[in-house]
Amino acid sequence: MQILRLQPIFQSTVWGGTALVDFAYKEAPKQAGECWGISAHPHGDCLIANGEYKGRTLSWCYANRRELFGNLKDAVFPLLVKVIGAEKDLSIQVHPDDAYAMEREHGSLGKTECWYILDCKKDASIVIGHHARNKKELQEYIEEGRFRELIRELPIQPGDFFHIEPGCLHAIKGGTLLLETQQSSDVTYRVYDYDRLSNGKKRTLHTKESIDCICTPHVDYPLQPETIGLSGAMITTYVSCPYFTVQKWSIEGEFWTHNCHPFINVSVIEGAGTCNEEEIKKGDHLIITSQTESVLLTGSMVLIVSFVR
Ligand code: ZN
Repeated sequence: MQILRLQPIFQSTVWGGTALVDFAYKEAPKQAGECWGISAHPHGDCLIANGEYKGRTLSWCYANRRELFGNLKDAVFPLLVKVIGAEKDLSIQVHPDDAYAMEREHGSLGKTECWYILDCKKDASIVIGHHARNKKELQEYIEEGRFRELIRELPIQPGDFFHIEPGCLHAIKGGTLLLETQQSSDVTYRVYDYDRLSNGKKRTLHTKESIDCICTPHVDYPLQPETIGLSGAMITTYVSCPYFTVQKWSIEGEFWTHNCHPFINVSVIEGAGTCNEEEIKKGDHLIITSQTESVLLTGSMVLIVSFVR
């Protein structure tokens, strides 16, 4: 039986605030914008908080105990799970795909990401997509600084789910708390940052890379969430793309399942209960490794779960 409990890493950001503290993380510093709950990325490599590997990093476990991850062939632990609490707007941005990142970003992975909205203020919105019909129009909008006309904003509410592929222009706006599941990458091209200052300076914009990467015209990713009811759980599958599958497991009572994945990432977003012997509660992040063949979840809780194919 191997369940790895992870110690979250907090990142302070210009747009952070107290949303992460209010959610579950009393220890989060002021201005914390991101909680990296499951990460082996060098910019925030989580420590294991329990069992035999306590004090080791997730990247160490992945490099030296690959059998815990079904002997996956990926060179690095492939996923990164964050809770993002935005008090102010994030920059309008785009991420490269694997091929562009490999060539331009020292062999990094590209970034496909998805969002489950945990909470948001009334009338909150999110930026996904744009109105440019082709690259030439896109270039004109950006070079003329007509960002408000360029972007497409959508209203959001708690429980909404969005899938952002590389090349999709996007931004999380202030007053939003969400859980992000993404490829393990930290490459972001900023298109526009509202002319804000960070430590007295404007953050770098990546105009050329952004124009290279943004897909024109914008096409929405075709999401078709499906929910099934099982004994003790309702399972909603939001997305199953080449990089990950993301589901919501709403547990009520006892739910038993067989683990047929190399590993399962689990983030508790509501309630409390147990996962085999581990007591878990809102805000906790764990990895059910491939050494755990049967999983028993009990309690009254909601989990966001992800795994690779
Ligand atoms: Zn992003």
